[in-house]
Amino acid sequence: MLAFRVETANRSYDAVVERGALRKLSAAIPDSAGVVFVVTTRDVWDLHGSKLVLALDGRPHHVLYFVGGEPNKRIAHVEEMAEQMVELGADRSSLIVAFGGGIVTDLGGFLAAVFMRGIPLIQIPTTLLAQVDAAVGGKTGANLAGGKNLIGSFHQPLTVLIDPDVLATLSEREYRAGLYEIIKCGIIRDRALFSIFALQRDEVLARQPEIEERIIAAAVRIKCEVVTADEREGDLRRILNFGHTVGHAIEAATKYATLLHGEAVAYGMFAAIDLSREVAGLTSEDATEMRGVIESYGALPSLKALNPQVLADLTLHDKKTVKGKVHFVLTPKVGETKIVSGVAEPLVLRAIEAAIG
Ligand code: NAD
Repeated sequence: MLAFRVETANRSYDAVVERGALRKLSAAIPDSAGVVFVVTTRDVWDLHGSKLVLALDGRPHHVLYFVGGEPNKRIAHVEEMAEQMVELGADRSSLIVAFGGGIVTDLGGFLAAVFMRGIPLIQIPTTLLAQVDAAVGGKTGANLAGGKNLIGSFHQPLTVLIDPDVLATLSEREYRAGLYEIIKCGIIRDRALFSIFALQRDEVLARQPEIEERIIAAAVRIKCEVVTADEREGDLRRILNFGHTVGHAIEAATKYATLLHGEAVAYGMFAAIDLSREVAGLTSEDATEMRGVIESYGALPSLKALNPQVLADLTLHDKKTVKGKVHFVLTPKVGETKIVSGVAEPLVLRAIEAAIG
């Protein structure tokens, strides 16, 4: 078993990475907890719900189904689930288990953050992306019509149980989307992790069990270290956004319908690599290698129909900029980052053209 500690002002907890980690659920629930509410989607429940019920070891529980998909990651569904909880007798001792992909861990986490001003939460992520990113670190939230994740809260879980076995049912495309986030971790902080992607592509794509555990554990360790050092996104947590500045613009331009989040991040990384070469001292050789490794994980859906200028405008006027300043997370070499603000628009435009062209 590998357990990575997250320490924040309000709570310290472990993110456990282990085949069969799901079975630790009952032991992770405090004796003081009342009824358990599992937030999930039908597809995940049909595939893995029986294992979760076994793992609950007879504890009283209710299952709250949520219809997945980015358009449904809205506060209205948080309210609906909260109403259901009240009808089912939930109180302050109730506990939420978020069991699903990143949409479920974000929305279920947000429900736990606001129900009766906050009740305990256990995260059991079931997509690769949620295991290495969304479920760790305490960010929860929902989308507004005006943008993604614009409403939310920090609500750290009691624990995160990361069970690679549940990934066996994940589609190849969803799996690859998660791999891009792990490649990102290698680029920003871990040369050895990046080397696995460069040298053992076939094993990674074949989901060879030992490699799968290693790359998940490496990414979770990085996320835990970064969150511990900087829970609320100062400069350090920001490094996790490598590839996300342009990635978010691409998601917005395509209305979250064409690409998976990890795929948008892959394109965003192409742009970040290009900008790193222009303004952060990344050598052309390293830039070519980084892009080549990402590309070797399969073709991405084409974005040739998008207008690069529209993407540049969206990138430079992102709703999450602080006082209108866009901070690009760039890399001078594998394992290192540099945050650069005030990058000239023509450079951003050129990087986007090179990324999607
Ligand atoms: P998702 O939650 O939509 O899951 C993808 C699909 O896979 C869904 O259809 C889901 O039902 C299905 N699925 C889940 N587990 C499965 C399994 N084991 N087998 C088969 N199918 C399974 O998408 P995602 O990529 O996991 O998460 C994306 C969301 O995560 C976005 O909303 C993003 O904003 C959020 N996110 C949050 C953070 C954070 O720090 N809070 C970080 C990164 C991403």
